[in-house]
Amino acid sequence: MARSEGIVRVRFAPSPTGYPHLGNIRTALFNWLFARHHGGTFILRIEDTDVARLVEGATDTILDSLRWLGLDWDEGPYHQSERLEIYRGVADQLLKDELAYLCYCSLRRLESMRQEQTKKKQPPGYDRRCRHLTREQRAELEASGVTPVVRFKSPLEGQTSFCDLIRGEIVFDNSTLDDFVLLKSDGYPTYHLANIVDDHLMEISHVLRADEWLSSTPRHMLLYQALGWQPPNLAHLPMILGPDRAKLSKRHGAAAVDEYRDQGYLPEAMINFLALLGWSLDDKTELLSRQEIVNHFSLDRISKTAAVFNRDKLDWMNGLYLRGLKLEEFGKRASPFLERDLPLEIERPLDAGYIRQIMPLVQERAKTLAEVPQLTEFFFVDKPEYDAGLLTTKLERAEALEALRASVAKLEELQNWDAASLESVLRPLADELNLKTGEFFGLLRVATTGRTAAPPLFQTMEVLGRERCLERLRAALGKL
Ligand code: GLU
Repeated sequence: MARSEGIVRVRFAPSPTGYPHLGNIRTALFNWLFARHHGGTFILRIEDTDVARLVEGATDTILDSLRWLGLDWDEGPYHQSERLEIYRGVADQLLKDELAYLCYCSLRRLESMRQEQTKKKQPPGYDRRCRHLTREQRAELEASGVTPVVRFKSPLEGQTSFCDLIRGEIVFDNSTLDDFVLLKSDGYPTYHLANIVDDHLMEISHVLRADEWLSSTPRHMLLYQALGWQPPNLAHLPMILGPDRAKLSKRHGAAAVDEYRDQGYLPEAMINFLALLGWSLDDKTELLSRQEIVNHFSLDRISKTAAVFNRDKLDWMNGLYLRGLKLEEFGKRASPFLERDLPLEIERPLDAGYIRQIMPLVQERAKTLAEVPQLTEFFFVDKPEYDAGLLTTKLERAEALEALRASVAKLEELQNWDAASLESVLRPLADELNLKTGEFFGLLRVATTGRTAAPPLFQTMEVLGRERCLERLRAALGKL
């Protein structure tokens, strides 16, 4: 254990160099779960020291995504860009202790060195020229006005090892590490420096982060050693791959987290889905509430092997969560999507009472909230648009005409406009017309909704109401 035995302090430390993707948020979630399980502290730290790669608005999107998912933080957000003095101080200390040195090499020199190394198939890395400068050479470079960077003096031999809580003992040869930069010439720290300084000062007990940072960890260990600080516990989370076992990307249907919100996924479903990307309760349980996951979360159920993202599973899970909502709640969550996506010519605000009647017809069918407007558009438009050919896919034109006329006649006389009454006149009418119910109802479905697939016919007609239905049936006659 690092520091105060038993106290859990974890952090999510995103770089605002892009919008948070599933992997980032999975890291946030696992840290949050770990903190909540242990009654610990979840800290949010924005690692915004790579000025050239900052993306405008990324920090806000990160915060919004966390809020949307209910991953509340107890401290922060801290911004590294506001802590430059602290990193500078640590770099100065390392210089003073001769554990780091100033490097004056120009970008041009570094670039041609890199090209040379690639050509010779050597591992890339700084050749340590400035590590060995004489006092005179240094004074000369200093006088020439070049702003130096600060580099760490990596040990030239020996090994660095650490115990990863997920992957076990990991050993690196120091000879594979170059003298990496700690402080850049713009005065900003590199990730390595800022990250370990903050983990130390913020008394982080456990670092749970993506696998891709594993190769940085030996550098961090050397820095901790050099500074005489105790490192936190480390746990590197398994990668997330697409179904084809390639690194997860847009191609696999993976999106930025805020896109999932906009596409109508529920945060509860996302939490459940993301938790299972690398963690499991056992080998069968798929559905777990946030609280259940908090209760059971532990590092020893995190897998060592990569997790596979499956969009169909997310859709399935989201559908289940949608169906699990109380009808009223479903309507409340779907309404903003209706307001946003229904055609603009439909008058706003939409009629809340009418929406309440429609919702039971789609709750069973929608996999996402964004599907609700598509599934229900025909309820709202004045005249559903469709190709007249749809009316005669199963029937001859004459049959369709007769069937529609007979339906209008019967329905004009219908006393109670409810699903049961509609069915009680329309089902026998199929026999009278000598049509199969499937053919006849299919015709009525197209005429009233403009679609071949829609929620159950009689309930749909009940909600559409007498006027709309009769008007649409007459319009269909007109089309024929
Ligand atoms: N800023 C790094 C990132 O963007 C943090 C990595 C870490 O957790 O150490 O993921």
